Amino acid sequence: MKLATIEADDSPVQSRAAEILLLQRTAFMRAGAPALEERQADIRQLRDAVRQQSQEIAAAISSDFGHRSVHESMVGDILPVLASARHALHHLASWMKPKRVSPGLELMPGRARILYQPIGVAGIISPWNYPFQLAIVPLIAALAAGNRVMLKPSELTPRTSDFLAGFLGKLFPVEKVSTILGGPDTGAAFAALPFDHLFYTGSTAVGRRIMRAAAENLTPVTLELGGKSPCIIGTDAALPAAAQSVAFGKLLNAGQTCVAPDYALVPRARFDEFVDLVREAITKLYPSLRANPDYTSIVNDRHYERVTSLLGEARRRGVRIVEVNPLNETLPPAERKIVPSLLIDPPDDLTVMQDEIFGPVLPLRPYNSLDEAIEFVNGKPRPLALYYYGSAKADRDKVLDRTVSGGASVNETLMHIVVENLPFGGIGASGMGAYHGEYGFQTFSHRKGVFLQSRINGAGMLRPPFGRAANTMLKFLMNR
Ligand code: NAD
Repeated sequence: MKLATIEADDSPVQSRAAEILLLQRTAFMRAGAPALEERQADIRQLRDAVRQQSQEIAAAISSDFGHRSVHESMVGDILPVLASARHALHHLASWMKPKRVSPGLELMPGRARILYQPIGVAGIISPWNYPFQLAIVPLIAALAAGNRVMLKPSELTPRTSDFLAGFLGKLFPVEKVSTILGGPDTGAAFAALPFDHLFYTGSTAVGRRIMRAAAENLTPVTLELGGKSPCIIGTDAALPAAAQSVAFGKLLNAGQTCVAPDYALVPRARFDEFVDLVREAITKLYPSLRANPDYTSIVNDRHYERVTSLLGEARRRGVRIVEVNPLNETLPPAERKIVPSLLIDPPDDLTVMQDEIFGPVLPLRPYNSLDEAIEFVNGKPRPLALYYYGSAKADRDKVLDRTVSGGASVNETLMHIVVENLPFGGIGASGMGAYHGEYGFQTFSHRKGVFLQSRINGAGMLRPPFGRAANTMLKFLMNR
């Protein structure tokens, strides 16, 4: 068992966090794995509280963003939590059951089992873009697996993080679930604690630091990171539907979505038509911008300046920018809404084609052959998601086979993240490990392999003194 140590020069928050970890670990070791009923009761009370307080949650998120569409908060923050609670409540009994597996002929009639054991105390570090969902869905998985949890939500959404601390504080004793508030320094100190598992959602740059800190304690990590998720429009794609889907996926939460389509690759022959269709689709989704309650603001001034500077760089380099601003409104920077913008065939060395965009900006690039599009995707770090639009099975399979991404949706954006039965996670620069549904339960469980010997021990023939029986047995085992 790992023990938290409190260093003499620790700041009060660090010492408090280390104390809570010790408290939780001690309580875990004393109480052991909670029964199915206790886990279900925890998830049920969490679900009920989310249902009752959904409006307060949406209000907290909106005040953090300046403006966040209430519908987007319901769809992006509340529904995923309720879906994951419902799914866990329904399936937890079967997930927890020890799994019988064959021990192999050599060890029969012994038996083998996989036991799913809680790992102990899990640390969860969550980001600001879906600040409720990305804290609570991992929490549900960790509780379903029978663990205690310490959560460090983002400092960029302070009202939601304060809400989370109060909300979870009322539902759970501190030795079961506890929230630590603070910024990057607190995050760094938190990541350095000797958790039994550290689950991090956020940027790739910070993900590297998390893994480095966890390595000191040999704490296993799940890293849910970001990146540039491409969207490939096939030569036979139904263009209007594809354009509507891409526009929706890009502009949900004003582009501040980890699995948003980052850029689109479009067959050269259909390029202009697709650009027009995306512009039409955006106009339909957002006929106005400034006072439109459906259109979300950028979370803070730093991110607003980051996204506007991507556009500034493109403009300076002479890239054609199609701004979709149906009423030609002026959007005051203080309100941090950015006009949805299409960048037409930007050169690859622009920042907008190198870094994750995380804003309402869509670069579109023409391609000549599907192979060229695949090569372009494969020339960049492995993305969290990939979207393909088209009907020919051969092309679809080629794209899915030859690209490596965390997940993918075909003829749709974002939706693979909604399917509880699919693992959700990245690969390479977009992360490691996965959660959602049973994959989340497994992420926060230790799979303990157990062999149970029977009274008749077949393998006993292979013990010294080796003689005829051992030779016969060896001959059989080596030639079967
Ligand atoms: P971020 O890395 O800036 O912050 C995430 C969390 O890490 C916050 O709680 C922050 O306080 C903490 N943190 C910051 N510095 C730290 C440090 N040195 N040590 C420990 N913790 C530290 O990320 P963000 O800007 O909040 O989130 C946006 C990024 O997250 C995007 O790249 C996006 O794609 C990605 N993301 C991924 C997923 C996913 O499921 N894979 C979901 C949402 C967002």
